Amino acid sequence: MILELDRHSHMPLYAQIAAQVRQLIRGGALKLGDRLPPNRTLAERLGVNRSTVATAYDELLADGLIASRVGSGTYIVAVPATPLRDNAIPADSSAALTPLHWETMLPELRPEEWLANRDAARRKDCVLFTHALPATELFPLDGFRRSVERVLRRDGRNLLQLGASSGYEPLQQYLLQQLALVGIRAEASEILLTSGCQQALDLLRQTLLQPGDEVVIENPTYPGALSLFCQPQYRPIGVPVGAHGLDLDALADVLRRRRPKLIYVVPTFHNPTGVTMDLAARRRLLELAAQYRVPIVEDEIYCDLRYDGAALPSLKALDRYGVVIYLNSFSKVGFPGLRVGWVVAPRLLIEHLHALRQRSDLHGNLLAQAAMADFAQHGLFQKHLQRCNRHYVQRRDVMLAALQRYFPRDASWTQPEGGMAVWVRLPECVNSDELLAQAQPQGVYFTPGPRFYVGGGQAHTLRLSFTTTTPAQIETGVKNLGKLLEKLLASSAAARGSQRAVTGKALV
Ligand code: PMP
Repeated sequence: MILELDRHSHMPLYAQIAAQVRQLIRGGALKLGDRLPPNRTLAERLGVNRSTVATAYDELLADGLIASRVGSGTYIVAVPATPLRDNAIPADSSAALTPLHWETMLPELRPEEWLANRDAARRKDCVLFTHALPATELFPLDGFRRSVERVLRRDGRNLLQLGASSGYEPLQQYLLQQLALVGIRAEASEILLTSGCQQALDLLRQTLLQPGDEVVIENPTYPGALSLFCQPQYRPIGVPVGAHGLDLDALADVLRRRRPKLIYVVPTFHNPTGVTMDLAARRRLLELAAQYRVPIVEDEIYCDLRYDGAALPSLKALDRYGVVIYLNSFSKVGFPGLRVGWVVAPRLLIEHLHALRQRSDLHGNLLAQAAMADFAQHGLFQKHLQRCNRHYVQRRDVMLAALQRYFPRDASWTQPEGGMAVWVRLPECVNSDELLAQAQPQGVYFTPGPRFYVGGGQAHTLRLSFTTTTPAQIETGVKNLGKLLEKLLASSAAARGSQRAVTGKALV
């Protein structure tokens, strides 16, 4: 086993050893059952401390790739499942900075699908369940135009000039007041306006993570988070999501064995499943994060799109330990094209994020921030939100009823109390990519589930967004999908039948 360590790399030596062993297993140079050299031998060979090798072996042990047998040694017992999940990092860390998976940054689509969808959207007869986006026909253009005119008249020259890099102060003040109403007390020095949650998440990634670091993400999760945390220099740990959000027993198990640098969660109306963590789960998550000293990045982008049930306090509002970094934006409740979001965190962290942000684009769009502040201060934002929620609840109900009516009995789906989408589990023999390929010619589009997983997987899942389609379109689209599913299930049953017949003959 030949390993080469780069002592100038940012990546710790133990992480380099673990990454290279992983690579050797994946490449086939180390096979199942092969014995790894004892700690002392490898440490001497590499000129490192024995504890460095022991830590590397602990990592591989935690990954389930190796096992120790008392008195006999350490053996390879598994092959890494996918490159994404355990993320082999080349010894040369500069080589690790491979290009971003930029296609996942587009609204949860691959580029060719994005274009196909954009064209499809122009056709009146198409049904797009693809995007977790607001309904453009509900945008109050006149009201917003008046806000833009007012702020331009009042302060146009300053808004169009290069300005304060922390953002438009009256919007910060408005947001701090709104946050106080939901139990989040923060000072002006603890908030930064960003170009949406995505930029805030990227700034946090750059500030909190080093090459080789592990990050806990929900599995499935928002593809924009996957595109940041599944870059080759990081090691994402996907923790399953159940009916009440993140599986906390699985998380506790991960935290006992690994050392993630942050936990990213969407606790309310999670994207893509729509599920919400209840109060007890929120409290337990906070305790786990505090116990293991891992910061939580809480993305509350959907929290105001609630259609039933009582509002729950955010993790940030419940946080007595100072472990939560809070993200939100106007993208789901207002206008995503404006790119206005915010992050609330301890002052020192905000200062870091601020400096980093300046390096990238100096500051956000002041006109957009000022118009949004005016729109909110005139009560128009709340009115718009209430109107959207009235439409979205109806769309969600039509979708749930249509699923009940048209989908096969052995399919199941979530019943979100808010948010923008329903998550569907088809019978396991159906592949959602195959369903999409058949649905597209009929003008029905959705997002197959594997796009939301760390390293793919769960081919029988899919996300149906309901906010950008009318109730009539939802009814038609779900009905068409139901018919296609019926056919796919019948042909899969026929294939299984004929396979049984063939097997039967062979046995005779
Ligand atoms: N977080 C989640 C959970 C999302 O679903 C999205 C958009 N799909 C974003 C963040 C991106 O938000 P923004 O437009 O504010 O960058």
